Amino acid sequence: MSQIYDRVALIGLGLIASSMFWAMKRDGLAGEVSGFARSAETRDTAREIGLCDRVCDTLGEAVADADLIILCVPVGVMGAVAAEISPFLKKGATVTDVGSVKSDVIAKVGPHIPEGVHFIPGHPLAGTEHSGPRSGFAELFENRWTLLVPVKDTDPAATAKLRSLWEGMGALVDEMDAEHHDLVLAVTSHAPHLIAYTMVGVADDLQRVTDEEVIQYSATGFRDFTRIAASDPTMWRDVFLSNKDATLEILGRFTEELFALQRAIRQGDGDHLHAYFTRTRAIRRSIIEAGQDTAAPDFGRGGTPKR
Ligand code: NAP
Repeated sequence: MSQIYDRVALIGLGLIASSMFWAMKRDGLAGEVSGFARSAETRDTAREIGLCDRVCDTLGEAVADADLIILCVPVGVMGAVAAEISPFLKKGATVTDVGSVKSDVIAKVGPHIPEGVHFIPGHPLAGTEHSGPRSGFAELFENRWTLLVPVKDTDPAATAKLRSLWEGMGALVDEMDAEHHDLVLAVTSHAPHLIAYTMVGVADDLQRVTDEEVIQYSATGFRDFTRIAASDPTMWRDVFLSNKDATLEILGRFTEELFALQRAIRQGDGDHLHAYFTRTRAIRRSIIEAGQDTAAPDFGRGGTPKR
């Protein structure tokens, strides 16, 4: 792959930014990559592990001269960060982000993008429950979707260039409007995270009654919930606060379905349960067929957990 951008600035140096850095460097997609994170601790870690060619102590220094600026901070601070970098952006540069919510980020960041600078919001549908500068790896985006959400008057050539960067990092790329993105993600990611947080919270309450059994005899269903519920608290607080309407809409539907299943259990309606579980099993199959997960037993983990 040949170089796509001469100078890239990564703002926020956590899981997503560090994965992008390693992927861009592996494939020679970017010339010089500068980086900035809020805390001196993260900046020191980045310097220690060679994350970014140049780690800067101010936002202005990091973005000055950059052709592509990638906002990789929690969605709740995207607006404030955009306001701070605004005076330093050079004409013709592109600002993008990787936030998990799009309408709110566009509303908060958009007004700070100066005339002559392109703004192309984005969202890689890839992640892990780990965070911070040491958690990234170059393969994170491979065969995973990245959604670009061009806003009004976005320059097609700038969008095509950003698309080729993501494709260079191994991602599949699609375009979607912001409102639709937020609803789709509420179903596929945000509501499931909230349900996982709740289930683990309930088990934690129960554990106070059952001593350590919840942990010791933890079966795959619960273990998968705990993995999701270990995700970064700041990131997820911000996701729910900024994708409020779509998440509440999906949670309303979820609650209705849960009540229907609860009634079927109470009434011994096995046909209802069986039909429902048959329908959901087909969805799992189609995710595997679409290449978005493994069919290996136990999600390909292999082996039984160590006590
Ligand atoms: P992360 O590992 O927690 O890293 C967040 C980074 O943002 C840290 O380097 C943090 O700096 C920095 N930061 C926080 N507030 C800041 C501020 N006010 N100014 C400058 N830097 C600030 O997070 P992540 O998982 O990479 O997530 C980053 C973004 O990607 C979020 O918007 C999230 O919604 C989105 N996303 C995440 C995933 C996922 O699965 N994790 C997937 C797709 C998209 P310090 O270390 O100094 O605090």
